[in-house]
Amino acid sequence: MNPETYPSFNIIATGNDGTQIATLSTNDWVDFVNTVAAEGPVEWYMAPAAKAIYNATGKGYFPQGVTSGTTITIHEQSKGNLDLLAHEYGHALGIQHTSGMQPDVMNPVAWMRLGDEYDLRNKFKENFPDYTFISTSHSPLIALGIIGLLGWMYGLS
Ligand SMILES: [Zn+2]
Repeated sequence: MNPETYPSFNIIATGNDGTQIATLSTNDWVDFVNTVAAEGPVEWYMAPAAKAIYNATGKGYFPQGVTSGTTITIHEQSKGNLDLLAHEYGHALGIQHTSGMQPDVMNPVAWMRLGDEYDLRNKFKENFPDYTFISTSHSPLIALGIIGLLGWMYGLS
């Protein structure tokens, strides 16, 4: 499955080493991931039972990035997620997933990406020096909400 065939496919960055980052809209992203998962061997978190739970409840794990060769394709709403970008860039460099319980950027599960054995967060920033971590359109509202909350906690208004 080639992500370039989707109408929302949009290259947002090209690294010094030629690695490209492209985004897909939510609808295209869900279709793309389900197609990729249906095509080949899937890891435990994409196995039918886990996927069925996700599709039924919206809870659990749904991938936010797929790297093929030197093209990193990510869900548009995750383009501000450095952990995800560092993880996918690791794949572009040929690094495989860590084992299930190892808390590292290369763990397949997002909330396990704590350590950074390969220094991938810095490598990503070095390779994409112009990448701006502007996240989804609603994040300024979240930021304002946090500022509002802090203001309330510290007695500001
Ligand atoms: Zn991965």
